[in-house]
Amino acid sequence: KKTENQLLVIFGASGDLTARKLVPSLFNLYVARQLPKNFIVLGTSRSDMTDNEFRNRVVLDSKYLKPKLEDLQKDYIEGFSNSFFYEDLGGSYNTHYGRLQKRIEDLDTKYGLDGNVIYYFSTPPTLYQPIAKRLGDVGLNNQQNGWKRVIVEKPFGYDLETAKELNSGLQEHFAETQIYRIDHYLGKETVQNLLVTRFANTIFEPLWNRNYIHHVEVTNAESVGVEKRGGYYDTSGALRDMFQNHLLQIVSLIVMEPPIGDAPEDIRNEKVKALKSLRVMTDPEVLKSHTIRGQYVGSEIKGEKIKGYREEDGVAKDSTTETYAAIKFFVDNWRWKDVPFYVRTAKRMPTKVTEVVIHFKSPHHHIFENSGVNNKDNKLIIRIQPDEGILMKFGVKVPGQGFKVERANLDFYYSSLAETRVMEAYERLLLDCMQGDATLYARSDEVEAAWQFVDPILTYWNKTEDVRMYGYAAGVWGPENADELIEGIGYWRNPSEN
Ligand code: NAP
Repeated sequence: KKTENQLLVIFGASGDLTARKLVPSLFNLYVARQLPKNFIVLGTSRSDMTDNEFRNRVVLDSKYLKPKLEDLQKDYIEGFSNSFFYEDLGGSYNTHYGRLQKRIEDLDTKYGLDGNVIYYFSTPPTLYQPIAKRLGDVGLNNQQNGWKRVIVEKPFGYDLETAKELNSGLQEHFAETQIYRIDHYLGKETVQNLLVTRFANTIFEPLWNRNYIHHVEVTNAESVGVEKRGGYYDTSGALRDMFQNHLLQIVSLIVMEPPIGDAPEDIRNEKVKALKSLRVMTDPEVLKSHTIRGQYVGSEIKGEKIKGYREEDGVAKDSTTETYAAIKFFVDNWRWKDVPFYVRTAKRMPTKVTEVVIHFKSPHHHIFENSGVNNKDNKLIIRIQPDEGILMKFGVKVPGQGFKVERANLDFYYSSLAETRVMEAYERLLLDCMQGDATLYARSDEVEAAWQFVDPILTYWNKTEDVRMYGYAAGVWGPENADELIEGIGYWRNPSEN
């Protein structure tokens, strides 16, 4: 695909995301010669900085780029850093947009950027709408000379209502086709591979339904706590921070019907349909039996004291924000009727892992029932991170007399494709937007459909008096009561086992 000449304007360019993810991703694209011929980055925020100070901050002296810059020629590095410029927006977001406009025009003329601009919103989310409005007010959304696109960082709203407000606020100044909502999980190879596994093979899709699948499990575990993000996390929690976006995106790729083609809207239309078919839970009795929340408590691992969530910096001492969420739900459509889905996400788990487990049904008539195999179901495990790959578990005969059956693994690991450069998520997504491909970005109706499902759970948790907040020690797989969700159906797989 062709990448046209363009300008990337980053709002919030003095922030963490710009230095840690955006600039290193751009550098990888530079090294891979995937940036367009004429390409300029204009950073903005309230801080006062010269172009050179900005270059030093995000490129030359950046701790995130340092390992990549070692052994490279000075000229080569400067070829990259000299394409960075900076313009401060003053103390308030609503001033200086005229000056910003002038700077954009000057850079466009000088560097031949053909009027194409991406505006990357990486500020606190409360500023997304005001910035879009200011850009609209001074005509920086005008597509008469060159296209204009906006990349918006999560969170896309705090609940359904605020998500709708954000969507309509952005859409007042930019068409939906210009808006790219970034969910970096969709930039991961293994997440995209869910589509390929399902729709580029004939061996899975005929089984991918209620006739053969017993239940589906998705686990997202982090071994760390909230680290330095306590203040932010306490206003968010596991359901908002991970489940509403990343995990429901994964669910939509598991649930969706085959798209008619690989065009962005073909795929996104099916994802929206999938999200809309999740059975929204509103009955308190159902919510009580289908959802579990928890918080990590002070504990000790190998003699090391681990702070409980409520003792973390920035977290309220009586916080009711969950660091563990496990949700059971059903999907109301022809394919998935009555198949339970179990999705959990948490911090302070024994290990860092994200995986999807498709549990197939046992054979209808198991002639080797007493043959030693401990679990009869076949499993397909899609490992999203780390050790990205796919694992299939099936029964094989143990050599010797009789029919003793054991589970064997067929496995594929991405690392075995080591010769192919695996792009980092942000890098892949940035390049897609530069090329106008929105396949891996979330559309407004997708985001709203996800909130539609999540909102009643949040309301139930936050507004109902007697919803338990289970404590769990660091380094265990969450509260024991989470097993009750899945009991009778199976058990949460221990992802540490192969
Ligand atoms: P951050 O480190 O707090 O940076 C925020 C940036 O916004 C700073 O550059 C700040 O610079 C700027 N800013 C604040 N007020 C502004 C204003 N009125 N006008 C213009 N700029 C303003 O935050 P971050 O971690 O980079 O995150 C940015 C966004 O990305 C957030 O919405 C966050 O939720 C989202 N996000 C971040 C990550 C991550 O890994 N960091 C991951 C996913 C999503 P000044 O103070 O100089 O103005």
